[in-house]
Amino acid sequence: MAEEKPNRLTDLVLIVREQAPVLRRRLSEWFENCKEEPYLIWETAAVRYGTYAFAAIIVLWGCSFAKNMLSTPLPADAQALSSTGDFPVLCSDESCGQHFIINRAFGFDDFPVTCPQCQQLSGQAARRCMSSTCNGQWVAPVETDGVMRCPDCGALFP
Ligand SMILES: [Zn+2]
Ligand SMILES: [Zn+2]
Repeated sequence: MAEEKPNRLTDLVLIVREQAPVLRRRLSEWFENCKEEPYLIWETAAVRYGTYAFAAIIVLWGCSFAKNMLSTPLPADAQALSSTGDFPVLCSDESCGQHFIINRAFGFDDFPVTCPQCQQLSGQAARRCMSSTCNGQWVAPVETDGVMRCPDCGALFP
């Protein structure tokens, strides 16, 4: 009884073996035909649809690639750079005078800020004074009569 049970794997192997010469012959016939009449390659549905499918895959791949290119978020650094900036700060406490940099959103103007050296709320927006007296040192410009001046040499800031 057990021997009469259909063994599917064996059956399949047998079918393939039986069909293999036929398939091979058909394939070689098709190949021969195509050699004589090359347009037959295109006439073969499998080749035609295979080509369509391949073209479709390429198009879809291209689309998703373009979409990724457009929607890829900027690196975290670039995002931070685009919305914030470095602000030079000078501690106005005479015994401290610490110069430091803070990173805040563009347009930040909420001075004074806390000085990391003396922990006082004495950090003022700083600029380099390029006068011959100050020679590029960091100063916290003071506003007098509506203009910004260097507190050390009195030079005007644009
Ligand atoms: Zn300080
Ligand atoms: Zn100056």
